[in-house]
Amino acid sequence: MQSAAHAAGLGLVLIGPPGVGKGTQAAQLREEFGLAHIATGDLLRDHRARGTDLGCRAAPYMSDGRLVPDDLVVAMVRERIHENVRFLLDGFPRTLDQAHALADVLLLEDRRLTAVVLIEAPDDVVVERIAGRKEGRDDDDAATVRRRLEVFHTSTAPVIAHYETLGLLHRIDAARPIGEVYADAERLLRGLDGSRSRVSITAP
Ligand code: AMP
Repeated sequence: MQSAAHAAGLGLVLIGPPGVGKGTQAAQLREEFGLAHIATGDLLRDHRARGTDLGCRAAPYMSDGRLVPDDLVVAMVRERIHENVRFLLDGFPRTLDQAHALADVLLLEDRRLTAVVLIEAPDDVVVERIAGRKEGRDDDDAATVRRRLEVFHTSTAPVIAHYETLGLLHRIDAARPIGEVYADAERLLRGLDGSRSRVSITAP
């Protein structure tokens, strides 16, 4: 259920390299702005842990740091977007094809994205952060991290350029203390939430 204070639509995409702290930022933003946090990595890990068909098909890609095929990921996201007019996508879209698929999903619902937030930091900063993670993930070993960064630079960079061309991109420098990064993100979302550029919803 959406609360009255959070009844209006807000469609956000959070993009950033692995290890930049997207998950932490997203968890706080979700609370504060009443957003559904749609994190494809978390959803896939949950499927894998439950041993679903999707989880079994995704597992080999995930453990190698490669992208799971688009059709599997897009179907998962479509369902969540249909259920939530206020959402924060985290880790999706990661390819241009996924970005186009997202546009199609939203078009079908007569909705659109409000904004794309890029949380950015140089590779050496994120590599160091991942190495320092206490709750190490199975794809956090040095070789897999390198692969994940490579995928980010080759497959996700065009997504960033695409949203920049559309005038939707906002950049936040994440090579700073976590609280400062969050303060910027919060300020940005506050402005977006009150603006007329929010997701439009067709009257029934
Ligand atoms: P993350 O938690 O976002 O770093 O994602 C962990 C892993 O899940 C990635 O390395 C990919 O194997 C897979 N994954 C997550 N999101 C996507 C996506 N949008 N497209 C393809 N694979 C994804």
